[in-house]
Amino acid sequence: MSGHCDEALAQLYTYLDGELDEVAFTRIRAHIEECHPCGGAYAFEERLRVVVRQRLQEEVPEEVVARLRAVVARLCR
Ligand SMILES: [Zn+2]
Repeated sequence: MSGHCDEALAQLYTYLDGELDEVAFTRIRAHIEECHPCGGAYAFEERLRVVVRQRLQEEVPEEVVARLRAVVARLCR
């Protein structure tokens, strides 16, 4: 638990979108490899994105996604 956790979670979506600069990307990747809560949150969100993409034809209720994201945000507290 450190300020790195706050940064890692704040940059989660930027990271997954591949929009981080190399320095920030390297720093955050190093953090999520050694920090289990953050690593879990990243893995979860990455998986969620795949599922959502696969089910694009079906309806994924926004509230379900929002609830899952709230759980992820709490993991590192
Ligand atoms: Zn962390």
